[in-house]
Amino acid sequence: MNILVINCGSSSLKYQLIKMENEAVLAKGLVERIGIEGSILTHKAKGDKFVQEEPMKDHKDAIKLVLEALIDENHGVIKSMDEISAVGHRVVHGGEKYSKSVIVNDEVMKELEACAKLAPLHNPANIIGINACKTLMPNTPMVVVFDTAFHQTMPEKAYMYALPYEFYKEHQIRKYGFHGTSHKYVSQKAAEAMGKDIKDLKMVTCHIGNGSSCTAVDGGKSVDTSMGFTPLDGLVMGTRSGSLDPAVVTYLMKELNCSPDEVNDILNKKSGLIGISGLSSDFRDIKQAAWDGNERAKLAVDMLTYRIEQYIGSYAVAMKGLDCIVFTAGVGENDFYSRGIVCRDLEFMGVKIDEEVNKATVGDFAELSTKDSKVKVFVIPTNEELMIAKETLDLIQK
Ligand code: ADP
Repeated sequence: MNILVINCGSSSLKYQLIKMENEAVLAKGLVERIGIEGSILTHKAKGDKFVQEEPMKDHKDAIKLVLEALIDENHGVIKSMDEISAVGHRVVHGGEKYSKSVIVNDEVMKELEACAKLAPLHNPANIIGINACKTLMPNTPMVVVFDTAFHQTMPEKAYMYALPYEFYKEHQIRKYGFHGTSHKYVSQKAAEAMGKDIKDLKMVTCHIGNGSSCTAVDGGKSVDTSMGFTPLDGLVMGTRSGSLDPAVVTYLMKELNCSPDEVNDILNKKSGLIGISGLSSDFRDIKQAAWDGNERAKLAVDMLTYRIEQYIGSYAVAMKGLDCIVFTAGVGENDFYSRGIVCRDLEFMGVKIDEEVNKATVGDFAELSTKDSKVKVFVIPTNEELMIAKETLDLIQK
């Protein structure tokens, strides 16, 4: 049984075709510059890479090309579209309505439209992708998997903001949390690695990439997470500020005469690592510059790691205990330096890692903690596509 996983952005589309029997990725690829000049498909299958530059006016054109690539005589991996049992779509925002993945029907599509206001940069693209697939594959079941769903188990005291209550009721302003598929995947993998029932474990999962978030996973359920109403909140990220005093926003608007869109742009695109360092949003550049003595790059590293530590500490308090810390995503999986800083600073909590193992771990699963560490520490490569495919399969088999 093959599941096609689709992740649509506003002008891009990522896909993977996964054979569920052995969880093998048969093909994967990326379409970029949809609707703009220079549209391009990069398709990888059977150890080869195939690149096709062709005008694509919209996501329907893009998906059509993807399907053609999948069944192509030379670089295809299936004979016909009938060999795709279902499509799993990543959708960023499911609002309060969805705490689980769902099969697409008319009512779900209406709800997605209603949620679009909460994620104006992401949900509309996701909806366009689903509609395009529905047109091209009318008989194939579609499932949506939400970034927010895993966090719907947070208690009220964690997800509410101390604003007038009617803002929650009338405008749905609350913490939703994101990266849920990733936090869920790595927390399950960590429980497997520990050989324990996830119900008995208290974990903090740290998804540290361009966008970053920490989640408190208690008994397999998200009980708090660092992203909020939008993916802007929480940790210091590549270009996003993370948490700050909300008064800064109104001050900027008054003092610099900025419009809401301009402030949004500053906080989302010009802050974080790039804002502090003035150099780059890429952690590799920041780390190198810090090692070369650049003070602002050093500060960016300090701020990033300090805030990860703060979240781990506060979540240990929220869960009244901590059995395990997981690092994942671009920085978490690959970067020994930031992991080392965080773990050494948490030694007082019983965290002890093997520095050699940490240094040698680049992008692979590893247990960093020593045998006598009170808290286990893992590096676990995330796999959101596989998680989406699994949830899709589960739903269509039900
Ligand atoms: P996204 O949030 O866009 O999915 P990723 O999870 O791919 O991002 O993470 C991107 C980040 O991972 C970048 O800051 C990049 O510098 C960092 N990264 C990737 N490889 C390494 C590495 N080997 N060492 C340190 N950082 C790395």
